[in-house]
Amino acid sequence: MIFLIGLIIVLVLILIILVLGYVLFYKVKKFLGVSSFSNLVEQAKREDESIPKSLSSMDSLYLTRIKDDFPDLNINELKRECEKNILDYFHAIENKNSFGIDSDKIKSSVDKKIQEFKDKKISFKKIKFHKTVVSKYESDGSVSTITFGSSLEYYLYENGKFMRKVQDRFRIQYIYILDSSNIDKYSKVLGIQCPNCGSPRIDFKTHQCSYCGSYVKDIVKRVWVCNDLVSY
Ligand SMILES: [Zn+2]
Repeated sequence: MIFLIGLIIVLVLILIILVLGYVLFYKVKKFLGVSSFSNLVEQAKREDESIPKSLSSMDSLYLTRIKDDFPDLNINELKRECEKNILDYFHAIENKNSFGIDSDKIKSSVDKKIQEFKDKKISFKKIKFHKTVVSKYESDGSVSTITFGSSLEYYLYENGKFMRKVQDRFRIQYIYILDSSNIDKYSKVLGIQCPNCGSPRIDFKTHQCSYCGSYVKDIVKRVWVCNDLVSY
């Protein structure tokens, strides 16, 4: 009988210790935030993947000035061209081939990316643009520059395997040469070549091909040219 009572007391004590231990453990865990920390990480990751990156939009400030300087320019068309350039940038990285890119600056940044993903097959899927805005406009009498910002998202795949959803943004710079005496610096960007022999060596002062001597009349194409494109 005494043995039985003793056994019951021991069992009750063990039960009490277990309950107290569990309560204590739960409180400490909650206090340290162990259970919620992983939730926070998960939440931050979800936000990273779903919230578009912000852009500094100066649209309203600069649009009037651009309109005054270039009444014929359709700024929305240029914005769509920015987006097309970003798509071309992605495709060049996917195909590991920067051959079709005119601008030396963009070409070298694509080549850098290709080098970075050397052994991997990278693909950008479900590319979606959120917004493209004008973030800067400068004109100094010989060159005008419009800087655009574009925010987008895509799904990144490595070797055919889904890695993560990415929110990204790009800065895209378009230039317009106003003064042809300044064109030497930009001849490569503009892709000017002799219509007769195809040589890119044009004398910009005499408007003559240095190779065959042909007269190159449309030396300043007077078009907007994409000069730079960077993810930031
Ligand atoms: Zn020529």
